[in-house]
Amino acid sequence: MKTVLITGAAGFLGSHLCDRFIEEGYRVIGMDNLITGSLENISHLFHLEHFVFYHHDVSRFVHVPGKLDYILHFASPASPIDYLEMPIQTLKVGSLGTHNLLGLAREKKSRLLIASTSEVYGDPLQHPQTEEYWGNVNPIGPRGVYDEAKRFQEAMTMAYHRYHGLETRIVRIFNTYGPRMRLRDGRALPAFISQALKGEDLTVFGDGSQTRSFCYVDDQVEGIYRLLLSDYDLPVNIGNPEEISILDFAREIIDLVGNHQSSIKFLPLPKDDPKQRRPDIKLAEKILGWKPVVDRKSGLKTTLDYFKDKLSKLK
Ligand code: UDP
Repeated sequence: MKTVLITGAAGFLGSHLCDRFIEEGYRVIGMDNLITGSLENISHLFHLEHFVFYHHDVSRFVHVPGKLDYILHFASPASPIDYLEMPIQTLKVGSLGTHNLLGLAREKKSRLLIASTSEVYGDPLQHPQTEEYWGNVNPIGPRGVYDEAKRFQEAMTMAYHRYHGLETRIVRIFNTYGPRMRLRDGRALPAFISQALKGEDLTVFGDGSQTRSFCYVDDQVEGIYRLLLSDYDLPVNIGNPEEISILDFAREIIDLVGNHQSSIKFLPLPKDDPKQRRPDIKLAEKILGWKPVVDRKSGLKTTLDYFKDKLSKLK
């Protein structure tokens, strides 16, 4: 039986990865310091013989007993308001946390996959974004704590790969959504859904002409799983290339929820907010035979049901 360590295990993506690796017959070690993650996301796993959880901050020295085949580093605050509130922790987990896990991977002879991000492309001047694009990032802006930590993380990972011959994988994740996103993480999708469910106006930042491309979590997990098991060691974009403006996205959510008491309220655009974002996924198609299969309509429906259930329990 293979063993995998997943950091950020109680988070949105981390918890779905735990589920997937359990399903695939792995022994899963979850790790999280719970500053943005929630035990609720993994509470259904605790009774399993092949699941263990450590409440630990990976920015500090990390050790786990026994053999370790794979490590997936998914710990990090990941929404703009989270990293504005926790700038130092965001920088530390991407840099020191990654360094600790690279050390652990060397010690255990594990393969390490790190969660990078479309944020390494910053406010991109190339569209759609291919893996060759170097990006347009403001290092000292409010998003810089996340973007630069992730860029350092990639550099550090490639250095360990080249210098120490460590087996590494780098996934550049584009906006991903689905059940277990936090209702109040400040991202567009949970914000819009909860506003629409309450009949409030949807808060669109700027004029809403900025674009994003939203990938359903099951597709994202499939791409990550295939990348881990592949033999490709340079960064790979995983995301859904279907692009939409934020204003159209807000309208789509109002229609989906069907609460026409809600309209749109325009608020100032946050600093350095990327104007456009869309992954070029030719590389993933070629080397992983992967492309997304869940369309936004059905992905949003499942996500809406999850948030409805969540909100009803809060009452
Ligand atoms: N956004 C918005 N209203 C909100 C939250 C976000 O209009 O209540 C915008 C935000 O300015 C950005 C887009 O939606 O242009 C996606 O933001 P999100 O925080 O979801 O992700 P990211 O900017 O990291 O892609």
